[in-house]
Amino acid sequence: MNIPQSSFPRVIIIGGGFGGIALAKKLCKKEVQVVLIDKHNYHTFQPLLYQVSTGGLEPDSIAYPIRKVLQGYPNFYFRLAEVRRINPDKQMLQTNIGEIDYDYLVVATGSETNFFGNKNIETKGMAMKSIPQSLNLRSLILENFEQALLTDDLHERDALMNFVIVGGGPTGVELAGALAEIKKGILPKDYPDLDTRRAQINLIQGSDRILPAMSEIASSKAEGFLEDLGVNVWKNIRVTDYDGKHVSTNTDTSFESETLVWAAGVKAACIDGLDAKELLCRGGRLRVNQFHQVEGFKEIFAIGDVAQMETEAFPHGHPMMAQPAMQQGENLGENLVRIVENKPLKPFVYKDKGSMATVGRNKAVVDLPKFKFQGVFAWFVWMFVHLYFLIGFRNRVVVFINWVYNYIRFDREARLIIRPFKKVTAK
Ligand SMILES: Cc1cc2nc3c(=O)[nH]c(=O)nc-3n(C[C@H](O)[C@H](O)[C@H](O)COP(=O)(O)OP(=O)(O)OC[C@H]3O[C@@H](n4cnc5c(N)ncnc54)[C@H](O)[C@@H]3O)c2cc1C
Repeated sequence: MNIPQSSFPRVIIIGGGFGGIALAKKLCKKEVQVVLIDKHNYHTFQPLLYQVSTGGLEPDSIAYPIRKVLQGYPNFYFRLAEVRRINPDKQMLQTNIGEIDYDYLVVATGSETNFFGNKNIETKGMAMKSIPQSLNLRSLILENFEQALLTDDLHERDALMNFVIVGGGPTGVELAGALAEIKKGILPKDYPDLDTRRAQINLIQGSDRILPAMSEIASSKAEGFLEDLGVNVWKNIRVTDYDGKHVSTNTDTSFESETLVWAAGVKAACIDGLDAKELLCRGGRLRVNQFHQVEGFKEIFAIGDVAQMETEAFPHGHPMMAQPAMQQGENLGENLVRIVENKPLKPFVYKDKGSMATVGRNKAVVDLPKFKFQGVFAWFVWMFVHLYFLIGFRNRVVVFINWVYNYIRFDREARLIIRPFKKVTAK
């Protein structure tokens, strides 16, 4: 990998997501050699992926080059590579570009879509966990409308304009709201010769309320907002299969749809060599202690979505969200310096800053530890928080200008089929 040996201990971080970047920032000025490895050369701001999928933002405004975040630090090295195996006995990693040894290893690989073993849904449905996947979804949505214009078959046309989003968490809610706004504000202008009133947006949630991780008031307000926008919210229904056209559920309800978006679960992105059953908790997360050490290893740590730290307040681990990942990265950064300096370690304590979701224009829900509010003010808070945490000044400016423009013009101009998507068709 062409990384020189140094007199400083080598810390390898796998993953330049929220956790990995926060950790690298803490360490890069310290007396350690930091090697960050990621299979992408950019950090993805996942909370805004749905806006890329729905033409509200260009993909490059929510991505940021990892090298740029940490440029200018002589002890920092980035390598664009996929880590394929960890060999804890030899303190060595295997990647697609070669091997590298470590003194300390931090796994910050995040999570991936969990299809719960359903191969049909995995191959014929759409996931939205990365920028390429969001671009695929954007293309598919637009291609469907182009196709709907061409067919004389009413059933086929309806299926092309019928969207099924599985999972009523923030991702599903935000995507459903954005699609509903497109239906209302953009489709009638773009496709005057198509009866776009027939387009349906269905949000399917397995439990009795959407946004189950938020307060009850946030759930019911968000549901009201979605219904105002014309989204069909289905609760207590589980999608069981999808053949590319027909969506089956565990009830008598079924849907004919050319687009199923799966936002109903994630699992930890584990790496071979560190995936023994005894190390893993529910969802494949690595069990770590309060100092982020993976059980049984003093020199291997895990943070963010991939890690499960069970505490009294969070018996099932911290939420798989950006804040825990960032706070864990910062705490581990301090602890790694303490380890090198032979000082006692600081246990991690999560400061819950709340959660939020937006449904659409002037419609958001915010749960702060002490206050809960919804509506226009919540929407402004949502926008401010997302702009604040977006990495890169240029990205913040571009996103802000886009949002102002879209707000004033009721528009989303990134509705482009740059890279056509070829869907796996039904058998
Ligand atoms: C659509 C969507 C919307 C979301 N909205 C919100 C929200 O509104 N608020 C919120 O708090 N959270 C939200 N989240 C969750 C949040 O994005 C994650 O909790 C957060 O990204 C976790 O950070 P992380 O550092 O653990 O992992 P990530 O940020 O996922 O980073 C992991 C990194 O590891 C890299 N990687 C993985 N495996 C390998 C490998 N083998 N080799 C090399 N590199 C590898 C990946 O390329 C990636 O860059 C959302 C997630 C999604 C998908």
